[in-house]
Amino acid sequence: MIAMSCRNSETYMCREAHLVQKRKGGITLPLCSRPSAPGEITQRSCAFYGARWMLAPLEDAIHIVHGPVGCAYYGGTVRGRSFRVFSTALEEKDIVFGGGKRLIRTLKEAKAIMPHARYIFVYATCSTAIIGDDIDSICKKMEKELGCPVIFVNCPGFKGDSQASGHRIAFESLLNRLIGQGQRTEVGNYDVNIIGDYNINGESMVLKSLLEKMGIRVRCIFTGHADYEGIIAAHRVRLNLLVCQSSGRFLAEALQKRYGIAYLKVTFLGPSQTMASLRKIGQFLGLEREAERVIATGYKAIKPGLDRFLPKLRGKRAALFFGAARMASLIKALDDMGTEVVFTGSQFGDLTTYKETWQTVNPGTYIIDDASEHDLEHLLDELRPDVFMGGIKEQSLSHKFGIGFCLFPQLKCAGPYVGFQGFLNFASSVHNAVYAPVWKFAKLNPNSSPHSADRKPRKSWFSCHCEACPPVPFVPSLQLPGKPGVGRRGGTTEAIS
Ligand code: SF4
Repeated sequence: MIAMSCRNSETYMCREAHLVQKRKGGITLPLCSRPSAPGEITQRSCAFYGARWMLAPLEDAIHIVHGPVGCAYYGGTVRGRSFRVFSTALEEKDIVFGGGKRLIRTLKEAKAIMPHARYIFVYATCSTAIIGDDIDSICKKMEKELGCPVIFVNCPGFKGDSQASGHRIAFESLLNRLIGQGQRTEVGNYDVNIIGDYNINGESMVLKSLLEKMGIRVRCIFTGHADYEGIIAAHRVRLNLLVCQSSGRFLAEALQKRYGIAYLKVTFLGPSQTMASLRKIGQFLGLEREAERVIATGYKAIKPGLDRFLPKLRGKRAALFFGAARMASLIKALDDMGTEVVFTGSQFGDLTTYKETWQTVNPGTYIIDDASEHDLEHLLDELRPDVFMGGIKEQSLSHKFGIGFCLFPQLKCAGPYVGFQGFLNFASSVHNAVYAPVWKFAKLNPNSSPHSADRKPRKSWFSCHCEACPPVPFVPSLQLPGKPGVGRRGGTTEAIS
């Protein structure tokens, strides 16, 4: 938790413009894509972890983390699931004399343990980047000896502001070393790739089967369901379907530029977006009738379930905080439920993510970038949503406030949440979180309950509890009519183009 001693503290001043409230008029976006402020205690991960986030599902590869064993331990678990990683486990003497020899030894050992692996990823970490190990040339040298591509993923933790830079580095590695290596033979009329789906609770399989019902063949799902053969042939498709714009946009645009493959932005969260996406794909590929058939069958199957859950969820208030993936899509899915979003935030959203979010939420909604636990605590305390959706880190915080919690988007959530049946799963999870019987018995701290007569009003937003600071009303960002640089300390303002 941030212990800010005074409203004039540097952290307080840096953080203020990262929170905005949507008001009518021009767009007000939170300050984003910046390094976290010292003292903020950010919940972001490093670029190395971002690369692991992308590449971990490629289980036919060997993954070697070149650095201290702590980095490998950190990168071994992704989205709540443990993956096999090898580590060079550097020690002090390797930092002094170089870790190249250890890397060569680890490459040989790992290949002996997994002889059938088709390719190897070697991840740089902070320490090996700082000492200047020439990982790239070692990888190139070892390729001949090991007989498979040895791909250097240049992702030291300090590269970029957050894990988002690691996502791009990972896709660059695939693009430069693997994609396009397979022969560009005949391209099927209905061959597609999906970009930006990570198979959380089997979501990739749901999407694949939905598209297969329309007669579409999915070649490769980056990276939820991808293997060596799929990746090297990923340039042999007619269309790319971009599911997560924040993480997948780079690859979709690069494939369009390099191979002329068009891409469509689609999302399968909530029935309205699923229907719109299937129609869009159908229209592009000339499969309109097939799309209508899949929509009719899918919606009919979940209608009785929706009639059970939706009336009870209408008018409920939700709060969201997770990476950056699919924020606007999730808000639209909640809209299908009749559930309003009171605040939403992400750890590493960029201007595009926040602009899309801003266009989706209702006036009055707060949008926060790179929130610390302290920030979330304030927002939960002030806005009191009925349900909070976030990663596993936020679960206990939410429960301490007596607010139902819904895990998203991680392996242990009750998903898959995509497609028609997925929306029913999602509605059921939100319903269970909101109406869990435990909330009837939970005794809340009078100071944290908005309904308590004894509750002391909070003095300010990024609050300081010292007596010297005067109270500030809970208006985190003020829109100055007709003036740019909105936000008390200048958030980002842009006109909708
Ligand atoms: S920040 Fe650096 S040291 Fe920490 S886990 Fe990431 S790569 Fe390893």
